[in-house]
Amino acid sequence: MTQPAFQATTTLLFVSAYGSEVAKQLAQALTDTGCSMVQAEEARTALEAFRTSRPDLVLIDMQLPEGKAVDLCRTLRARPEAKHTPILMLHGAGADAADFAEACLAGATEFLEASCPQALVGHRLRTALELSSDPLRETTASTPRKQPLALDSGNLQELVFSAIDRTRGTDLHVAVLVIMLGDSDSALEARLEEHLQAALGDYQDLERISFTRGRVHLTRDDDGQYVIVVGELTRIHDAAKLGRTLQEHVSAQRSGSGLSGSGLCIGIATSPEDGKDATALLSAAHEAARHAREDGPGSLHFRNSSTNQWVFERLTLERSLERAVENEELRVFYQPKVDINTRRVVGMEALVRWQHPELGMVSPAQFIPLAEESGQIVPIGAWVLEEACRQCKAWVDAGYEPIRMAVNLSPVQFRQPDLLQVITQTLQRTQLEPSLLELEVTESMLMQDLHQTIDTLRRLKAAGIYLSIDDFGTGYSSLSYLKGFPIDALKIDRSFVRDITQNSDDAAIATSIILLGQNLNLKVIAEGVETESQLSFLRILQCDQIQGYLFSPPVPAAEVEGFLERA
Ligand code: C2E
Ligand code: MG
Ligand code: MG
Repeated sequence: MTQPAFQATTTLLFVSAYGSEVAKQLAQALTDTGCSMVQAEEARTALEAFRTSRPDLVLIDMQLPEGKAVDLCRTLRARPEAKHTPILMLHGAGADAADFAEACLAGATEFLEASCPQALVGHRLRTALELSSDPLRETTASTPRKQPLALDSGNLQELVFSAIDRTRGTDLHVAVLVIMLGDSDSALEARLEEHLQAALGDYQDLERISFTRGRVHLTRDDDGQYVIVVGELTRIHDAAKLGRTLQEHVSAQRSGSGLSGSGLCIGIATSPEDGKDATALLSAAHEAARHAREDGPGSLHFRNSSTNQWVFERLTLERSLERAVENEELRVFYQPKVDINTRRVVGMEALVRWQHPELGMVSPAQFIPLAEESGQIVPIGAWVLEEACRQCKAWVDAGYEPIRMAVNLSPVQFRQPDLLQVITQTLQRTQLEPSLLELEVTESMLMQDLHQTIDTLRRLKAAGIYLSIDDFGTGYSSLSYLKGFPIDALKIDRSFVRDITQNSDDAAIATSIILLGQNLNLKVIAEGVETESQLSFLRILQCDQIQGYLFSPPVPAAEVEGFLERA
């Protein structure tokens, strides 16, 4: 017997033409799950029912006549009130990949087969509901609240003490920011508190996912100076970003009211670096603020000079990265993937390069992590994807044998709610066959949020895209999960290939990955193949493809064209 899966307060809207036997049985199963159900027979009444009953999830029968089901899904998705409501599509055995892809594009969350055992129906719906209530989705989806931050009336010393206490035994930091006015300015002084509260409210809200796991307090010290305490900070340079935001906010407010002149001077100290107890940390922050004031209005100073230096180098690099896309400083290089037996090129991997005007070529290993932290990876990744798809299509159009183009996907991109949309739109714009696009994802990113991961992978797969796991063997993935991922290929990490012919551990790992791939029916590619002996070894192990300097390093498109064969 079915277990009730919902509270009576959960409302489901079921849209299906009455009379079908399947629909009747399913309606019974749905009622058994314990949720309250609203039924509609066609799109028009469904929209009306959505408006009046505000369901928690929607189930649409794909058998509605003339593609109405997909249209309804799209119409609902476009409505702000239904933007985040899970929409499940009920399908029969006849549905094919094109139907799924079309429904995905229209915004469907999940699929439920009509033949799903009744006892499982509640479970499937609950999973869809849980996925949609993922806290990350909520935060990224909701519009900023812009609540000003209230002034904390607690004792500053105690506030800092307990913030430090909470980070003990962790690798988190506490930052104390002391705010001073650059020069005496009574107009600014009078409204400073209000400005700080507003700026902090905005900042916390916008950055609340990555900025800090702890709380931000605004308070005043005995001398009446404003002090900000940030608890459980993961990255020290975020304290500098917060400081810059406050300065920019205050300047903007002042120029908005026709005032110019002094800016804020901010001193920053962090724990444990500048002090392991409240007294030491506070005094370090005050000292930094005095330095900042000596540097002049609008300056920001960390207590520790080496921290000061690296934070500013980092922020400068981050800022120049922001302009890299528009200044056309990024390039895409391509590295061939080769069939191990025929030595024919069967694919390419797109690898981004940054030609910095002063620093020269900056390696992706250096700037990708930076771009991931700042969120810049989203526009950069979208640009690389577009460029790679365009190049792949250009080769097809120029009469070369079609080969697959692999693009690396960052975990940050993978978690974007509009990932699928960005990818499908890029495919449409560049007119590239989805089957010619491969996305490389890393093992560790797949293990982060299993529900969402599988959901995203399924949608990508349903859209016809090829999926592979990059750097395989480094991410401790559970093999039982691996079986559940709809992927096509594994890439053995370079670190196991390097000493494969000398180191028996590496050889054993590579061997197991290849066997695993064969058992799960996945292609296996070895990365970083530099020598003929590595190649021979991998061929004996029956690895499918190789990639590495032996064949070619990543090079500009024009240089790699020589490897392509005429169709
Ligand atoms: P990856 O995706 O695992 O790419 C393979 C890396 O190994 C590339 O480094 C490639 O140049 C290098 N490589 C290839 N063959 C050999 C070899 O035979 N010997 C050695 N020693 N190295 C070899 P690269 O281009 O510096 O990229 C490093 C990482 O940066 C990539 O690792 C990938 O994780 C990331 N990355 C590069 N481009 C992008 C991108 O467009 N988006 C994202 N999200 N990440 C990217
Ligand atoms: Mg890769
Ligand atoms: Mg790799």
